[in-house]
Amino acid sequence: MLPKQQAYENLADSLIEKFNLRGIEGYYCGTKEEALLMAERFLTPGCSVSWGGSETLEEIGLIDVLKASDYVVYDRKTAKDAEEARELFGKIVTVDYFFMSSNAITLDGELVNIDGTGNRVACLIHGPANVIIVAGMNKMVPDVKSGVARVRNMAAPPNAVRLGMNTPCNSLGRCGNCLSEDCMCDQIVITRKSKVQNRIKVILVGEELGY
Ligand code: SF4
Repeated sequence: MLPKQQAYENLADSLIEKFNLRGIEGYYCGTKEEALLMAERFLTPGCSVSWGGSETLEEIGLIDVLKASDYVVYDRKTAKDAEEARELFGKIVTVDYFFMSSNAITLDGELVNIDGTGNRVACLIHGPANVIIVAGMNKMVPDVKSGVARVRNMAAPPNAVRLGMNTPCNSLGRCGNCLSEDCMCDQIVITRKSKVQNRIKVILVGEELGY
């Protein structure tokens, strides 16, 4: 095992202990292929599933697997207008399994997430019976402050480019603390613990995934 992979595994062990103290279930997979298998293992026949926007989920191949599956799948991107999106969200927010990544995770086990419309963080906070988070070890940060800084200065710029957002982070490559129409940082959510024991499950992956 390469030293970096060993270090990731060692860090994951201590993070999983921190998660346990916060009512969050933690797992570690060395590769994205293993993470995909583990994510699928949670699902039960006939269950309902959905997901929040995530490069990580795309990269491990989970979105394609879910779309091709026999599960009851709710994809928010299929909504044709605002009214349909609202109706669809009513179903998404009560699914059995909601998948997402976390924008950052602190060494103490807190989850740091930034969202524009807030659909993703709303599902993280309340609604779906289970929230399964898949996160590469590149998302680890020392604390909440550096987590927010990481998201705004490192994750947001490529995301803004990808989505074609008219924001300072798109043109500058770093956060301009905007209040623009396209702002992706309307909501900043810190998850300290899971009220419902083990409702939130985190699969840590020993690879760099997402932004
Ligand atoms: S606050 Fe605005 S400029 Fe800063 S990261 Fe968010 S969207 Fe980009």
